[in-house]
Amino acid sequence: MISVETALQTVLGGLRPVASEVVGLAQAAGRVLAEDVAARVSHPPVAVSSMDGYALRAADATQAPVRLPVIGQSAAGAAFAGEVGAGQAVRIFTGAPLPVGADCVVMQEDTVRDGDVVEIRVPVPAGRFVRAAGMDFKAGDALLSAGTVLNDRCIGLAAAMNHPWLVVRRRPRIAVLSTGDEIVMPGEPMGPAQIVGSNGPALAALVEAAGGEAVHLGIARDSRESLDAMIASAAGCDLLVTSGGASVGDYDLVQDALAGAGLHLGFYKVAMRPGKPLMFGDLRGVPVLGLPGNPVSAMVCAIIFLGPMIRAMLGRPPENPSMAARLGCDLPANDQRQDYLRGEVTRDAGGALVAVPFGQQDSAMLAGLARASCLVIRPPHAPAAGAGEMVRVILL
Ligand code: AMP
Ligand code: MG
Repeated sequence: MISVETALQTVLGGLRPVASEVVGLAQAAGRVLAEDVAARVSHPPVAVSSMDGYALRAADATQAPVRLPVIGQSAAGAAFAGEVGAGQAVRIFTGAPLPVGADCVVMQEDTVRDGDVVEIRVPVPAGRFVRAAGMDFKAGDALLSAGTVLNDRCIGLAAAMNHPWLVVRRRPRIAVLSTGDEIVMPGEPMGPAQIVGSNGPALAALVEAAGGEAVHLGIARDSRESLDAMIASAAGCDLLVTSGGASVGDYDLVQDALAGAGLHLGFYKVAMRPGKPLMFGDLRGVPVLGLPGNPVSAMVCAIIFLGPMIRAMLGRPPENPSMAARLGCDLPANDQRQDYLRGEVTRDAGGALVAVPFGQQDSAMLAGLARASCLVIRPPHAPAAGAGEMVRVILL
């Protein structure tokens, strides 16, 4: 049995980012940038007014109130063609280019218009209410970096940088294969000894949420023929994830079938609970993650291993998903396996996280997993811990 850390290093060590593709901005939300993105324009491209008012030379208003002739106007999208001379003003609107010669804007509320003349009632410093060219960013500035997950704000920035499309990572294709004679799809007719398979839908959802594309291979029966055929159909995917058939029972044939197909085994069994019979290997260039069948084990292993794997395939930097929380109850000493206890995390009056594991921790209990808001990590051989002690938690 190897440690979670060693297993994670092994799994992530061999992964390379998938290839990239070009998508339009409308398709870019949630995608991961494959390249740094530099501005193709400056923002704003020229000096513009940030107010409705009058553009003039600040030197002309030092003795305010003063009356200045209005020689024209500058609107957003329709700049004033001439030049503002000494003792002159130009009507200006928000977002409009600052006319040549002017160096400030007096807001409308500080003026009184009288025909072709405007009275400037307050002195203003040069630069007032002017957004300088490139104030936000300049052409050539690299403002979005490779590995960034594009959210709405990033997409707005990319658009402002004048990029109609972006180079993003292809979504990794993750083949999801459930196994077991007893497993039926949700909604299918059930025999007396059958159960509804939950791993496939849950794993596919995790894959999609992590930025991958789930390829549903379906449910293999506990026979070599069925497993062989379905494993073969994973060729061309970026990763094969199996669930079930991973223990030492007579019907646990997944590893046999994978070995027959040419699997190079990386490891089998990790010192964790739930999830001990976790398997990892390489099937002719396709990484394979063999998850336990128990639904909670499968999902906890997916959270700990599959999520970071997809992240790496997308070229995103690794992150430590855990954070510190105070225990809200006592916990007994741990054995040699790293525990991931399903529980509830809340905030105390000061805003600090407080975690309380549920009393029952059976690895077949899906309701508890769905209700959990955190996994409390108990390292191997952790001594008994009292309420108030600090632990690491993964927020769900
Ligand atoms: P196995 O590793 O095949 O022995 O499966 C361990 C346990 O997980 C058994 O109780 C299986 O019925 C259950 N199990 C396996 N696959 C699934 C699945 N896709 N959905 C829900 N439970 C499953
Ligand atoms: Mg099985």
